[in-house]
Amino acid sequence: MKVKKNGTVISTCVLLLLLFAALSLPAASYEANEDGLSADKAAFEEEKEGGNYSDLLESAPSYTVTYDEVHEILPYESFLLPSDTIPYNERQVMCEGREGEKVMLYEVRTYENGESERTLLSTEVILPAIDELIYYGCDRAVPYNEFIYPTLGKITSYYGMRVLGGVSKNHYGLDIANRLGTDISAADSGIVSYAGENGSYGLCIIIDHQNGYSTCYGHLSKISVEVGQRVARGDIIAKMGDTGNATGSHLHFEIRKNGDKVDPLLYLPEEPSEK
Ligand SMILES: [Zn+2]
Repeated sequence: MKVKKNGTVISTCVLLLLLFAALSLPAASYEANEDGLSADKAAFEEEKEGGNYSDLLESAPSYTVTYDEVHEILPYESFLLPSDTIPYNERQVMCEGREGEKVMLYEVRTYENGESERTLLSTEVILPAIDELIYYGCDRAVPYNEFIYPTLGKITSYYGMRVLGGVSKNHYGLDIANRLGTDISAADSGIVSYAGENGSYGLCIIIDHQNGYSTCYGHLSKISVEVGQRVARGDIIAKMGDTGNATGSHLHFEIRKNGDKVDPLLYLPEEPSEK
């Protein structure tokens, strides 16, 4: 839209006024003069077409109008919610976040002096944002259902039949040897069901993983947990030792499935590194 006053109206009228003044025509003569009257009427008609005199003198600003469509991203929010069914500190995205979008329509008036004025005409959300929902595990005892090595060291005895001093005997665990005092961690999350002296196991811990599996840690030199304690996979629970029936510092590690001692290597991911 373009609004522009006709500037020639002023100049035409001023010229006519100047012309009358120069001719010094008396008012009566002017009124009597057919030609002069016609000229005045013509000027009046012209003025009417062009607009109002007072408008012209106040110089109403002329401007052009354009429209500006502005797209704006609507950010989404993230919510962290505690869960007692996923492993401790693990996170699960329950709902992916998605940015939204809104469109704002502006009318822009640009004046002849270069200044412009914006007016918001409408705002429309064309895509609503979707908030992100993330659950995090808040219970240390919730198992991963996957074991990790409880310590680092050298495997000195595997699960199965072994001969010691000429006597064949089943060995129901995995022996991992390292320095006295080496950290022992929970192989999976769970609840400590036993912590203390346990015959040939020496100082011993048993963790119930509440999924049918339990793990047993023997020959410890120090126990750092107590019965009933909820431990997360990787929590340090003890120090390696040689208590009970042991010839040197090592961990005797058992995995029990519904009470049966099974081969730990079938459940562990990879060999522990030498240390
Ligand atoms: Zn052993």
